Amino acid sequence: MDTKKELVVPRIENGTVIDHIPTNVLYQIVHILGLENYEDEVLIGNYLTSHKFIRKGIIKVKNKYFDNEEINKIALVAPMVTIIRIKNYEVIEKLEAEIPDHIDNFVKCMNPRCITNHEAIPTKFDVIDKKSLKLRCHYCEKFVTKDTIRFCE
Ligand SMILES: [Zn+2]
Repeated sequence: MDTKKELVVPRIENGTVIDHIPTNVLYQIVHILGLENYEDEVLIGNYLTSHKFIRKGIIKVKNKYFDNEEINKIALVAPMVTIIRIKNYEVIEKLEAEIPDHIDNFVKCMNPRCITNHEAIPTKFDVIDKKSLKLRCHYCEKFVTKDTIRFCE
């Protein structure tokens, strides 16, 4: 990689790089991860040129490693992103965000009558279709799709 490109989004010493983000969901991921309130360096690049896609987004978060639940959340809106963990400027782990078979706790059921919207019960969904993104509520059996997906606050 030439140095000119490196300067666009500087390297980080420790933390996470989320790469190959589709440009239209970049800010959604920023929100899902709560990075608006993160009090350390966050580098956001969008519409950058890449080899894999024509344009892509990238997020670099200093001194932060995301857990599986957070990575699953990312996968729901951007299944193809690459998560890269950096330590002392070296890549220690590289993984692709994958949609899990079951999603607990963080997706909101869209059915106003669902018990999870009335009682302090964590939501539970089975993933019916990973490609088009279709989830079924464990309690009321209503579907949540890519267009109606909301996350619990
Ligand atoms: Zn429900």
